[in-house]
Amino acid sequence: MHVKMNRTILILTIIQLLFACGQKPNSMDINENRTDEKFELTYKPESSTFSGNQLKIIPTKPNYEPSTEQQKEVIKYLATEFSENEIRSILMKNIEFIDSGENFESVRCNHCGQKIEIENWQEAMDKAYQNSFADLTFLTPCCHKQTCLNDLEYEMPSGFSKYIIELINPNIKDNQKADLIKNLNEILGQDMELIWAHY
Ligand SMILES: [Zn+2]
Repeated sequence: MHVKMNRTILILTIIQLLFACGQKPNSMDINENRTDEKFELTYKPESSTFSGNQLKIIPTKPNYEPSTEQQKEVIKYLATEFSENEIRSILMKNIEFIDSGENFESVRCNHCGQKIEIENWQEAMDKAYQNSFADLTFLTPCCHKQTCLNDLEYEMPSGFSKYIIELINPNIKDNQKADLIKNLNEILGQDMELIWAHY
């Protein structure tokens, strides 16, 4: 009886070890794609699924560009932490608006907190887009102060950046968020922020 149980435990341990090894990412799982428009690293395990939820992680500074080495380090770190999720690390040529999809509710003035009419904001966005978002200055219609489209308060949070990390269908516990941000800040030497998107 005793011997049998030990054997069962041993077999279970071996199975767990095999499973753990199978989950470990290796460089074969990471794809590189460089075009004129972007440099993209993708980790896509067979187990990955898409439910419409996506976590986007961007630097607070829209112009920030990581090195290729930093991008590789980011994807290796994330593929270890979230081995069952699809992960992308993308450096784009131009700044883009990183939206929250269906989670988008409103835009508020970062000076006085008033809601900004979507038409007003859209007009400023169209203008800034003509210039590839190189100039994000915005004069608030409510309190007539100069601000930046990136500093407005978006509900849910959104932002502008050249660099974006995407975690598809993430299952992140609240206590993992602080570590995630801290580790990415360290690898990139930048303050990063989380954008929860739904499509
Ligand atoms: Zn205002």
